[in-house]
Amino acid sequence: MTAAVEARARSEFDAEIRQETTPLTAGERQRALREFDVVVPTLGDQFDAASFAGVSAPRCRLLANFGVGYNHIDVEAAKTAGIAVSNTPGAVTDATADTAMTLMLMTARRAGEGERLVRSGQWQGWHPTQMLGLHLTGKHVGIVGFGRIGEAIARRCHFGFGMSVSYLARSEKSPGFAVTRADSLIDLAANVDVLVLAVPGGAGTRHLINADVLAAMQPEALLINIARGEVVDQAALIAALQARRLAGAGLDVYEFEPEVPLALRQMEQVTLLPHLGTATEEVRSDMGHLALDNVAAFLAGNALISPV
Ligand code: NAP
Repeated sequence: MTAAVEARARSEFDAEIRQETTPLTAGERQRALREFDVVVPTLGDQFDAASFAGVSAPRCRLLANFGVGYNHIDVEAAKTAGIAVSNTPGAVTDATADTAMTLMLMTARRAGEGERLVRSGQWQGWHPTQMLGLHLTGKHVGIVGFGRIGEAIARRCHFGFGMSVSYLARSEKSPGFAVTRADSLIDLAANVDVLVLAVPGGAGTRHLINADVLAAMQPEALLINIARGEVVDQAALIAALQARRLAGAGLDVYEFEPEVPLALRQMEQVTLLPHLGTATEEVRSDMGHLALDNVAAFLAGNALISPV
């Protein structure tokens, strides 16, 4: 937690704060469920069905997740064990949309590759056809998942870059500016210059972007993923990039995070960020405060602010 959130946790609650940055081990998850009234887990802390099954009479009554994504928690198993779950929607939206734009621009304009060139000392100087990239202004973006973050990305693309926006979601959206709902994922993939992923992770979206979707994309198109690594069949993405069936990818998340395959790391046309979506002090504090607001509401016997 940021210093501000740690200070609040210590002042409002009898809090034990774990300082390690690695995910909770199976033993730690069981201790958390057994000994604490409330646990504030985060990405990587695998509260799967086995974690709940392993503790017969949990003391824990709430998992107040730090993060909007909760695909690491088996919510049904938690509820069966009598444990509520909350998350931190909204606080993450703008920062994550900004990261999507960072990846779009870096990948379209070859910024990572260019920076590596300068740092290598090998740059020979400007010339009219040096490192030509994709001009983003006015292009067609397709957004898979049009919730809070998907819409915030669309807003940036529409108002900031004059792009036309198409989207795929389970329901019709009316954001107040021109967007077109796609008939299918294949149709969306086939018609856009940039395909951006903004769906939740979990079983319902695992490998949503598979070899067929990648094959439908145009060879000049880019794939951007700020959602969850498992949404993309990573092996299929590597094969498609190696065969130049799409021009590049910008990734903030990976299927087997934090492992990033050498094949991806070796490709110049791929921008790789270490899951930076919400990584600013302000946003991480807002997320932490929302998690603690949920804890406070729960312990006071009130409704959760952002239940899952
Ligand atoms: P959200 O508001 O719940 O939006 C999710 C959108 O995905 C909704 O539009 C939903 O459609 C759509 N959707 C869900 N399942 C779908 C499916 N199978 N096919 C097509 N569309 C589907 O969530 P959010 O706040 O925007 O966050 C989205 C995700 O971003 C999070 O769950 C998290 O995993 C990820 N994230 C990543 C970072 C990062 O650091 N990289 C940071 C924050 C969040 P309907 O609206 O029709 O239901």
